[in-house]
Amino acid sequence: MNPFTYHRATAVDDAVRDKAGHSNSAYIGGGTNLIDLMKENVERPTHLVSVGKLPLAAIEALPDGGLRLGATATNADTAWNEDVKSRYPLLNQAILAGASPQLRNMATNGGNLMQRTRCYYFYDLATPCNKREPGSGCSAIGGYNRIHAILGTSEACIATHPSDMCVALAALAPTVRVSGPGGERSIAFEDFHRLPGDRPEKDNTLEPGELIVSLDLPAKGFEKNFSYLKLRDRSSYAFALVSVAAALELDGNTITDARLALGGVAHKPWRDQEAENLLKGQPATAETFARVAAKVLENAQGQGSNDFKIELARRAIVRALRQAAEGSQTASDVFLNSNP
Ligand SMILES: Cc1cc2nc3c(=O)[nH]c(=O)nc-3n(C[C@H](O)[C@H](O)[C@H](O)COP(=O)(O)OP(=O)(O)OC[C@H]3O[C@@H](n4cnc5c(N)ncnc54)[C@H](O)[C@@H]3O)c2cc1C
Ligand code: SF4
Repeated sequence: MNPFTYHRATAVDDAVRDKAGHSNSAYIGGGTNLIDLMKENVERPTHLVSVGKLPLAAIEALPDGGLRLGATATNADTAWNEDVKSRYPLLNQAILAGASPQLRNMATNGGNLMQRTRCYYFYDLATPCNKREPGSGCSAIGGYNRIHAILGTSEACIATHPSDMCVALAALAPTVRVSGPGGERSIAFEDFHRLPGDRPEKDNTLEPGELIVSLDLPAKGFEKNFSYLKLRDRSSYAFALVSVAAALELDGNTITDARLALGGVAHKPWRDQEAENLLKGQPATAETFARVAAKVLENAQGQGSNDFKIELARRAIVRALRQAAEGSQTASDVFLNSNP
């Protein structure tokens, strides 16, 4: 690890100003991803601005009935918050499906959005990687790519976004509030993360120096009919091969509203609004779910070692939608099956 200086910010404007005053600097939340990247020499900031003491850890009701999740609230405090548990159990379940209790106690909401891909070549300095070193090439294309993307890829990068929390957020559609040298602004969650295109080094649409301040959830939480299904190589401590966040509103057996987002399949949490529209007004049946899964995956492209993900995703979508329609994943199931 390279030497670096460190500042513990106590106010948002202090953090933004201090970061802007150091050219090669980074914010640090819980450090569970950044420190690893620094140890591997993938990232080499010479100055860190700690956001852990900023007054951004609250989880509080919004006047429009929504819920504000502070950027520095830990993943654990967010998952176990009473309002999150009762009103946004999809989010609770997705967070608890990620990492481990120890990591969730350190990881912050802002840091979770910003965590970087788990592409093995990105971490391996001996191999070309356009995300780590723009223009050097992509070792995963034509290489070993079992964990890589099947949707929205480019010739420059086929990496996936690794977060579980962000898949549920994609379905719940919050607003990301940020503060930076140019002032404050809000970004719709679906516009926050990027597809790789020819700039895979850019994971998101933040401007230089912008700090995530909060995630503002809308009032609608789909608390009755939801499912977060995570398929992985082993039952803990593993990132998703494919995950699905499904949320439905039903009138009898008719779907009146729907959200569908996937993880492990693209450079960003993959929400498919066309597929959601196909669900609306339809009966909640196996035929409807199979048709929608086919639609989501109509442009899916395997890269060799990850071809299996297309069929895996197809089955996962159908299963998650069925679980959501049945209401078979209730909030209390989630709590019983989770390790606080
Ligand atoms: C062994 C292991 C297993 C894991 N398994 C999973 C898993 O199964 N599912 C999953 O979803 N995640 C998993 N994770 C990842 C974990 O969830 C992330 O590391 C964590 O959420 C990052 O949060 P942090 O606060 O520690 O971020 P940090 O490491 O502090 O920072 C990460 C990035 O975010 C930036 N940043 C931090 N806060 C802000 C802010 N407020 N505004 C702007 N930028 C900011 C930093 O500059 C840095 O670039 C795992 C991690 C480990 C180490
Ligand atoms: S998939 Fe992306 S992150 Fe992985 S080697 Fe290729 S360019 Fe790098």
